[in-house]
Amino acid sequence: MHQSTIGEPQLTLDNSIENQVLSALDIVSASDSDHAIHARRHEAPLDHASEQPAPNTSLFVRLATFAAVVLPPIALVAVMFLAWGGWFHWVDVALLVGMYVITGLGVTIGYHRLYTHKSFATRGPVAAFFGICGSMAVQGPIIWWCATHRKHHQHSDDEHDPHSPHAGREPGAIGWVKSFSHSHIGWLFNDLAPDMKRYVPDLLADKTTVRISKLFPLWVVLGVAIPTVIGGLVTMSWMGALLGFLWGGIVRICLLHHVTWSVNSVCHIWGAKEYNSGDESRNNPVMGILALGEGWHNNHHAFPASARHGLKWWQFDASWVVIRSLEKLGLAKKVRLPAPERLASRRV
Ligand SMILES: [Zn+2]
Ligand SMILES: [Zn+2]
Repeated sequence: MHQSTIGEPQLTLDNSIENQVLSALDIVSASDSDHAIHARRHEAPLDHASEQPAPNTSLFVRLATFAAVVLPPIALVAVMFLAWGGWFHWVDVALLVGMYVITGLGVTIGYHRLYTHKSFATRGPVAAFFGICGSMAVQGPIIWWCATHRKHHQHSDDEHDPHSPHAGREPGAIGWVKSFSHSHIGWLFNDLAPDMKRYVPDLLADKTTVRISKLFPLWVVLGVAIPTVIGGLVTMSWMGALLGFLWGGIVRICLLHHVTWSVNSVCHIWGAKEYNSGDESRNNPVMGILALGEGWHNNHHAFPASARHGLKWWQFDASWVVIRSLEKLGLAKKVRLPAPERLASRRV
C-alpha cells in the first residue's frame, strides 16, 4: 500500500499519489519534472486575463475597504504604544513576534507549501513539526485547510472558489463590501465541507497527518500555553503569564488570522500581475513581507507547486529562506522551482 511522502522516512515524490491527486485536480501536471512545474488550468492564452471583467469599484468604496484593512493594525500599534511599560514589555514583544513567526511558518511552509502543494519533500518528524506549528495558528485542522486550499486553486475566482472577492459579486458599493468581507473572513462562517476524498486522499491515507489533524484542539491549547508559561517564568509573576497569554496567544492568533485572510482578499484585488495565472491573483509587497512570502500571490497562482513564491531577488520570501536553509542542511529534498522558459512564457 502506498505511504505518502510526508509521513514516511524515505524521501519520495515522483509518481506518487500526491502528484496523481494534484494532477487530477488540474493543480499540477503529473508529468512535470521537479524543475518544470505548471498548473494545467492556467494554460490559457496570454490574453485570457484581459477577458475577465475588471473590478468595478468607485474611489469611495476602494478607500473605505482600504481603511477597513489598514485601520485595525494601526489601532493595535497605538494600543501597544499606550500600554508600553505597563501591560506591554520587551518580553511580550518577543513572545508576540516569536510565536507569530513560528506559527506563521507552520502555515506557510507546513500547511501550504508542503502538505497542500508538495513543493518539496521532507522526513516525517520535520513535516510533523511544521504541521503542529501550523495547527497552533488556529486556522483549522490541517486536512480541512489543505482541502479548502486545493479547492481554491482549482476554482480560483470562479463561483466554486471558497473565498473569492470576485465570484458572484453583486453590483455597486454594497456588493463590493459584501464580496470583500466574504473573501476575507465571512467564508469561514459558511457551511464549508470540501469533498475530502476528492481533494485530500493522499493526506487521509497518511496516519501521522490524520493524527495531527485529529489532535487539533491539543495544538491550539499548546499554542497559547507556551507563551503563557514563558511569560510567567521570565517575569516570575502571574501578571507576566497573563500578558504572555494575551500578546503571544490571543493577539498573535488574531494578527496572523487577518494577515492570512488578507492573502485571500487583498492579494486577489491589489498589486501587480506579473504572470498570466488565469485569475485575479496579485503580487502585493506589503503582504509579501507580513505573510512571510505568501503575498507574492500572483507568482504562486501561476506556479502553484513552486517552493519559492518571491521569484525575483527583491521579492523577499521568508518561507523560501527557511526552505532553502533546510535543503542545505539536507532536511528538504526535491525542492520544486519553475523552469526559466516557463517563467518567460507566462510573463504578462
Ligand atoms: Zn489565491
Ligand atoms: Zn496555494
